[in-house]
Amino acid sequence: MASKRDYYEVLGVSKTASDAEIKSAYKKMAIKYHPDRNPGDKEAEEKFKEAAEAYDVLRDPQKRQRYDQFGHEGVNGSAGGFGGSSMNMDDIFSMFGDIFGGRGGFGGFGGFGGSSTGRQQYRGGDLRLKVRLTLNEVATGVTKKFKVKKKITCPHCHGTGSEDGHTEKCPVCGGKGQTIQVVNTMFGRMQTQKPCMNCNGTGKVIKNKCHECGGEGVVNGDEVVEIHIPAGVADGMVLNVQGKGHAAKMSGVPGDIQVYIEVEEHEDLLRQDNNLIYNLLLDLPTAVLGGAVEIPTLDGKVRIKIDSGTQPGKVVRLRGKGLPAVSGYGYGTGDLIVNISVYIPETLNKEEKQMFEKMKDNESFVPSKSQTKSFFERFKKIFE
Ligand SMILES: [Zn+2]
Ligand SMILES: [Zn+2]
Repeated sequence: MASKRDYYEVLGVSKTASDAEIKSAYKKMAIKYHPDRNPGDKEAEEKFKEAAEAYDVLRDPQKRQRYDQFGHEGVNGSAGGFGGSSMNMDDIFSMFGDIFGGRGGFGGFGGFGGSSTGRQQYRGGDLRLKVRLTLNEVATGVTKKFKVKKKITCPHCHGTGSEDGHTEKCPVCGGKGQTIQVVNTMFGRMQTQKPCMNCNGTGKVIKNKCHECGGEGVVNGDEVVEIHIPAGVADGMVLNVQGKGHAAKMSGVPGDIQVYIEVEEHEDLLRQDNNLIYNLLLDLPTAVLGGAVEIPTLDGKVRIKIDSGTQPGKVVRLRGKGLPAVSGYGYGTGDLIVNISVYIPETLNKEEKQMFEKMKDNESFVPSKSQTKSFFERFKKIFE
């Protein structure tokens, strides 16, 4: 067996690619090398299988980790894994049903016709957009409007490509979209199907082409697209919005929009997965005497109680005050974590200095053995 190519290389993604990037990359390969689009092309079939194998490993966090650590050795022979060329097309369609938009069929995501008809449909190109969100928008989810330049359905012929709205059956393939060729091979005479050259596999021809679009069914235009971004997304994620990309020629299936997410930093709150972190610098008297302080959250300020004798390093967790979960990324609803530090005055006047001088002699200001021990235990936990 020939040596295997690196899975990341196969999909054309970096080793740090997100799940969404991997999925999107695989989807593109699957479209490019899909057997319906490359009938009889052995090389395309191998590429299609190779991409499926790479995706099968990289989409699974555990397999991906094993692969990162041990290479192909780490994932070979695993249950459900592919053993070289033993994989068949039906496996691929049933395993990645979400990608192919349904069991067995490829039509779901706008492919190239079901095998029942053999006719091909054009697919519009994808568009990319970048969107910058505030943490507040991440918390609630947001709908944004973009004006994009893209191929739109020709308004004159409504995408048919025909000036008078009429299309005719292709005379070469009789409307089937495919032609059959008989070739002589070492195994004897064999029949292969190829997309019809005359109609590009669509089965239709236009006599009187639309003067606006020249028969393509699409023209350059502007469109305002509305994109809903769900709550909980993170910097670097890529959302795929189906069907909002370029319109396809001849009323085919429109492409998608890939939305690249950027999240702005919040001025007070840090984000860690779906938790938010606030570093509270407490004044010394409140730490000693107790009281209440205001904490910023994504939906306004909240007051939290400070116990008397609060130690630096204490952590207060406000359950559910973090970011909401986003499906498929494995985080639940987050918390707001308040890390407490205590501000030690840096400059003192004479009077204040005297106050502290007095404290030095007081037993209450010297930690006991057990207090020293519990402080040590708490710090150990941080490094565990
Ligand atoms: Zn037109
Ligand atoms: Zn034809």
